Amino acid sequence: MPASRRTPPKRSLRSDASPLTVPRYLFASDAESLATEAGAGLAECRQHLEAILAHGGPRTIDNLLVPYDRLLSALSELQGQSKFLFDVHPDAAVRATADKWYQESERFATDLALNRPLYDAFVDLDVSKEDPDTKYAVRKILRDFRLAGVDRDVATRDRIKELRDEMTAIGQEFDRTIREDERSIQVDDATALAGLPDDFVKAHPPGPDGKITITTQYPDIIPVFRYARDPEVRRRLQWEHLNRGHPANLGTLSRLMATRHELARILGYESFADYIVQDKMIGSAKGIGDFLAKVRAASEERAKEDSAILIDRKRKDTPGAASLHAWDTNFYSELVRAENFDFDAKLLRPYFAFTNVLEGLFEITRELFGVRYERVSGVPVWHPSVDVYDVFDADERIGRFYLDLHPRKDKYSHAAASILVRGIAASALPQAALMCNFPDPKEGPALMEYLEVETLFHEFGHLLHAMFMGHGRWIKNTDDGIEWDFIEAPSQMLEEWIRDPATLRRFAHHHETGEPVPAEFVAKLRRADAVSRALDVQRQLVLGTLSFEYYHGDPTGIDTTKTLEAVFRRFPLVPFHPGTHFQCNFGHLNAYSAIYYTYMWSLVIAKDLFSKFQEGDTILDPKVARRYRETILTPGSRKPASELIEDFLGRPLSFDAFENWLNREGR
Ligand SMILES: [Zn+2]
Repeated sequence: MPASRRTPPKRSLRSDASPLTVPRYLFASDAESLATEAGAGLAECRQHLEAILAHGGPRTIDNLLVPYDRLLSALSELQGQSKFLFDVHPDAAVRATADKWYQESERFATDLALNRPLYDAFVDLDVSKEDPDTKYAVRKILRDFRLAGVDRDVATRDRIKELRDEMTAIGQEFDRTIREDERSIQVDDATALAGLPDDFVKAHPPGPDGKITITTQYPDIIPVFRYARDPEVRRRLQWEHLNRGHPANLGTLSRLMATRHELARILGYESFADYIVQDKMIGSAKGIGDFLAKVRAASEERAKEDSAILIDRKRKDTPGAASLHAWDTNFYSELVRAENFDFDAKLLRPYFAFTNVLEGLFEITRELFGVRYERVSGVPVWHPSVDVYDVFDADERIGRFYLDLHPRKDKYSHAAASILVRGIAASALPQAALMCNFPDPKEGPALMEYLEVETLFHEFGHLLHAMFMGHGRWIKNTDDGIEWDFIEAPSQMLEEWIRDPATLRRFAHHHETGEPVPAEFVAKLRRADAVSRALDVQRQLVLGTLSFEYYHGDPTGIDTTKTLEAVFRRFPLVPFHPGTHFQCNFGHLNAYSAIYYTYMWSLVIAKDLFSKFQEGDTILDPKVARRYRETILTPGSRKPASELIEDFLGRPLSFDAFENWLNREGR
């Protein structure tokens, strides 16, 4: 397949049609050299722009789209890598410099989007004789100019710029406050850890004062919320977790909402929610409300049953209990899994040693997509724990990725994939990185939770998408132009492979005995996986509704805590933790604003896409996977997502597979 895309390799065993560039900002040795490099990079972007604008005479692809695409590519490297360094670099001075240059690059991007002469040049460009990829790229470029407000008067454009700058700065502040507010609780002794797995207890020895510290980092909170028998321990840790960023982020969030609202109004939209959906699959703010209502209707009855089962079980511990606390849901879901379905997720942990899981992920994706990964040594990395791999398709290198997978101080505390170099046919190979917080094999067997295994597969799905799509002609047709409410679908779909017993048994081997995970464990896992599923969907609806509410309507005078409480009241099956301020640490309120619904929306797509893999004898059929790679992953955003979906499915998107999963699968 790739042969048609590129010139054939030369004589050597492997040869890259596109060069593998060094991500130029990533390996600056200190803050000063980063500042120098970033300054030079941004100056080059300005020169590109001046050269484009200086051109007289009729506009052509060669004198407009080609240099503009180069400019976007250079700018996206600065934006992507400075954002990434801000999230992961161990040196605070480098992080601060990266933050500054990220903001500078965003400011330049805002100016660019509002550059009237540039827009006019694109309006004059005749693309009627160009190929569909080029036509679509130019259509998106024009749309984005208009969404930015380029066709407004000078004074309005100036105000838009100010608001964009403020939005970036406030958003960074919001994120930084969350990241730096790592909290912890102390418990008196190991009896408070009753119910937790042995390896967790061993990893949390008492300090000099005899007390044990538990932090709000994921490797601590996931097991504690699920297994700690003492409700007081769960309650205290959850209280800290849900109060990260409070009170500082109350004001920050209000400023973010106000700034975005003003921007939307200037651009002629009712609210920021109405504005932000203009380039999404869903198309309108009303569409978000309708979609959330549809999912709610599909999940409500089942969620009531889920909740009743958990309350029943709680009554055995607390006679007369009539409801769940926020810190009960995970714990009792896990207990019901253990008792009603004879399933205990802890029993899986010994089969999920980090190193095995990563190798399994590599093997499965190699087989599915016909690629291989080669470890690269000797390249500089921002932290010694980072591993580097090249991706090959036959003898051709198609991209490079970096894995930064274990927690350390001051690092981004969630899991995410970042594109460092977008990749363009004949000029640069795509490069991407994962930043996650999984147990570290340098500190023991590094046993993962099932949920963490799922996260690793998910993030790797983003990474593969980047590797496959980064070979088109225009950067506008890579992830830069993908509808946000589609972008999670490929990674959500990749999670499906760990739900398949045959696939799981290939890599889930006991870290001591090497025995594959027993088949009955996996069968139980599938049934247990359905426990509280509809209740989880309701929780996702709370998050989707919150993100929508905060940005839909005029935020003047809004008390975000009251909104938070009101949204929880609308979903009575999802308990609220009184006195907590989730809006202060709900990081998506910055990056996703009104569109948290996208996770559920793309899950609907992922379930539908996966149904094609389920039609055959095995979900590991490389023929289906290759077709998926060709129709969905490789095209990037060369077509609207709805068309890519139809190309693969042979029919339009359907809600059926999602509903089947919600109400039937595993039950
Ligand atoms: Zn994702």
